[in-house]
Amino acid sequence: MGENFAFFLPVMMASFGVVFGFVWSLRVRAAGYWSGAYICVAGGFAVPAGFALVPTPVWGFVADLLFASGFLLFSQALLERWRPNWLLRARIAIWALSLLLCAVALALGNLPLELVASDFGCFLLIGLPLVAGKDHLGNWSDRILFSATALVALDNLARGSTVPLTLSGGSFQSSDYAFLMQALACIFGLFLALAALAANMLDLLTRYQRDALHDPLSGLLNRRGFDDAINQRIRRLPMQGSLIVCDIDHFKMINDVYGHALGDRVIVSLARILARFAPASAVTARFGGEEFVLFLPDTHAARAAGIANEIRESIAQEVADQFGLSRPLTASFGLSTAQSGDASIHDAIARADAALYEAKTRGRNRVCVRRALSAPDTATVDPQSRACNA
Ligand code: GH3
Ligand code: MG
Ligand code: MG
Repeated sequence: MGENFAFFLPVMMASFGVVFGFVWSLRVRAAGYWSGAYICVAGGFAVPAGFALVPTPVWGFVADLLFASGFLLFSQALLERWRPNWLLRARIAIWALSLLLCAVALALGNLPLELVASDFGCFLLIGLPLVAGKDHLGNWSDRILFSATALVALDNLARGSTVPLTLSGGSFQSSDYAFLMQALACIFGLFLALAALAANMLDLLTRYQRDALHDPLSGLLNRRGFDDAINQRIRRLPMQGSLIVCDIDHFKMINDVYGHALGDRVIVSLARILARFAPASAVTARFGGEEFVLFLPDTHAARAAGIANEIRESIAQEVADQFGLSRPLTASFGLSTAQSGDASIHDAIARADAALYEAKTRGRNRVCVRRALSAPDTATVDPQSRACNA
């Protein structure tokens, strides 16, 4: 049995090391620590093979070093998601102290002391993240990972506490200690790896999903993210509210005169102004270029026009000053309300776009409202508020 494990365990642990290495290459930071941890532990379990090739007592310390380092990396990998770098110095001290004790025990030829020092060191290293993580178990993958970690920690604690009972007089490899260590490492090591893999993959998927739904420049939702957020709302309630479309005036000129980089910064600044004035329930998106869309749930047209006007004034007052532009920078707004007859939010967007076109043709830097495509195509312009009703 022991010989089978001797071959199987290093291969299994190293395979996880490689898999986590691949996940790390997808820019999941914690996976790098998981990879290093499993490679170290694989090396620790491969020590008997090394001993068979070159029989020297040094192998004992090599195994202790690899296990302690693997568990230090496990603790770093776990804390990366729960509380990065928590008690890093204390954990390094535990790693060093347990290795020092192992070295002393080896020098004294005291195998039980060496095993106790190694097991308790590993227990403390993987047990500490449990203390930090217990208040950060956000989703099911965190809870499963926490359970798997607790099992590995308890395994080390139980093994270290029962060394006198399990370490028989014969060789280390034929002892109950060695058998239990290998059998339980196989089960719990597999459980821990699968739980960590699931948690890391979930993180990766969450990140990709976030990237797919957001505009990287402004941080706002993109068109897909906007549709997604609206669809989630519609599932819950009949869609009611107002829709604002905003487009920067003569933005091409900003790029032409001040350069594309400053144009980008203007877009970011505008997104911040939108986020500042949009109510918490609003769905705010950058639809591409210098065009933004806001959906204000349960907000009637008059209130939405007030918000649009506040945003318009703030842009006209702040942005040019902020970037030292020689002329004021303004934006035009189209506004419409969602109607019960709308097939989708895109009907309201189409009306708001028509109102935006109206705002552009009427001289820009204004808010135009269009209630329905069938509404009469006349407009009244109020020079004070720079509003128009289409
Ligand atoms: P109008 O008042 O009619 O809206 O005129 P405009 O110049 O704002 O509109 P136009 O559609 O002619 O030009 C939009 C410009 O926006 C052209 C394009 O180079 C620029 N643009 C689009 N996306 C970005 C971006 O991500 N960054 C920067 N810096 N410029 C962008
Ligand atoms: Mg424009
Ligand atoms: Mg445009």
